[in-house]
Amino acid sequence: MTDLQQPADPAPPPAQIPLAGVIGWPVAHSRSPRLHGHWLARHGLAGHYVPLPVAPEDLAQVLHTLPRAGFVGLNVTIPHKQAALALADSVTDRAALIGAANTLVFRPDGKIHADNTDGYGFVANLRQMAPGWAPEAGAAAVIGAGGAARAVVASLLECGVPELRIANRTRIRADQIRAEFGARVVVYDWAQVGNMLEGATTVVNATSLGMDGKQPLRIPFEALAPGALATDLVYTPLDTPFLREARARGCETVDGLGMLLHQAAPGFERWFGVRPQVDDELRRVVLA
Ligand code: NAP
Repeated sequence: MTDLQQPADPAPPPAQIPLAGVIGWPVAHSRSPRLHGHWLARHGLAGHYVPLPVAPEDLAQVLHTLPRAGFVGLNVTIPHKQAALALADSVTDRAALIGAANTLVFRPDGKIHADNTDGYGFVANLRQMAPGWAPEAGAAAVIGAGGAARAVVASLLECGVPELRIANRTRIRADQIRAEFGARVVVYDWAQVGNMLEGATTVVNATSLGMDGKQPLRIPFEALAPGALATDLVYTPLDTPFLREARARGCETVDGLGMLLHQAAPGFERWFGVRPQVDDELRRVVLA
């Protein structure tokens, strides 16, 4: 075929406004659209971020269709975090270790790349709100062993905590974390949480106890070391019974909202090309 016979190149598609969103079931409660909407407006970016309520049986089909509809990625929330990881074409080491994905990036060829930024968000929140926090200075105690606890454990170990203590009502989940994350993890019985707290310099509530509508976390608070850093993953309410008890015993406390805000930043940067700031204004917007 001569050059003259070459078919004309197809016209390039019109530039697309990037779309992203949060996929869950249900998802109406999510604060992520407000958060990302604020960043888009603040940076004057063309883009949209929408809630996507998708039932588990539809997840695979929806994930494979969205890249063809202008979506550049998604946040993933309950109950899809593990299924999304399994459906991805590539995964980061940290997502594989945690066993769940909360951030997806759709590549131009439609392939799905999965990451988990919860542990990053957890640590970034502590570094911002408690700049003197020194994870390597002493043992960390994690209460709970659900999906979020796995991200917390991974990030604390990466930060160099010398010992990672963990207790969970259902002990086998904590034993599983010990088996997967290695020798620095020490499992305590749920009835031994008081012993676990003794001397710990970082203490984390990674259970859902203390959330609005749930029982408060009841543990032997007198075992908390004054001066320890106490942080809660629960952020509704912002000031949980756990944080109040810890403060009353002389601990420094950090609430869980910042984790939510910081975990969102890497995804926003990948999808929309700007690294956004987590600041007081964002906290106000998300809490409003
Ligand atoms: P999950 O996988 O369902 O785990 C729930 C955890 O809470 C488990 O350890 C569970 O223990 C424990 N738990 C629940 N009810 C309990 C009770 N009555 N007594 C003792 N333990 C109880 O949930 P998750 O995804 O890990 O989330 C945990 C919390 O973190 C939630 O409140 C979630 O909203 C919050 N979170 C916050 C952020 C953030 O950005 N701040 C991010 C992720 C999650 P068993 O194993 O014995 O059931």
